[in-house]
Amino acid sequence: MYSLLQQIVSKIDGKIALSFSYQAEDAAVLHLLSQCKIKSFEVFTLDTGKLFDECEKLHKETEEFFKISIKKYLPKSGEIEHLEKKLGDWGMRESLENRRLCCRIRKVEPLERALKGKSAWVTGLRVAHGITRNNLQIVEYDEKFNLFKINPIVFWSDEELFGYIKEYNLPLNPLYSQGFKSIGCKPCTRAVKDGEDIRAGRWWWENPEHKECGLHIKEK
Ligand code: SF4
Repeated sequence: MYSLLQQIVSKIDGKIALSFSYQAEDAAVLHLLSQCKIKSFEVFTLDTGKLFDECEKLHKETEEFFKISIKKYLPKSGEIEHLEKKLGDWGMRESLENRRLCCRIRKVEPLERALKGKSAWVTGLRVAHGITRNNLQIVEYDEKFNLFKINPIVFWSDEELFGYIKEYNLPLNPLYSQGFKSIGCKPCTRAVKDGEDIRAGRWWWENPEHKECGLHIKEK
């Protein structure tokens, strides 16, 4: 995968950014990208204010391991005040509309700022994540953000992913050992049982086809 990723990034003219969301996928992609011969790339995360404590610890460990700085993008404070008044602590679970509003303010708007001026966005998306990610490709053009989206491990299985993490001893979120298979915000993520889908613990009260926060929806 490394040589293919090298070929892809060498064709990118402009700034490259990698989104880091405290998942095993991001560590693998960061490791692959770190080996590519490119001038520089930015690693950023969306600090929604609703993350698990384990993610903050992993943030530091990852920075130390890769000798990098992971830039945090936060939601706008004025909008958060309004959101918290409207939804309280758990209002995002009351309707799809509420949940999408919360994701819009805490994730999508900060992502728009993070990707501004970038030519390529590298992600840890995988087809194995389920129904909403069936049609992903290694390289796509994202019309919403007007940049190339590079998904280097899109076709990796769980075995390949966790085998890679183990082989290179990469920092891993301790939530995986507590039964989590996909990591998101605390109010909207739970551990899953054996045999359940990878993203069954994300917004578990919603239909599977709604399970996206808006970061990876292609429409403008
Ligand atoms: S995942 Fe949940 S807490 Fe996080 S931004 Fe979306 S609705 Fe809000």
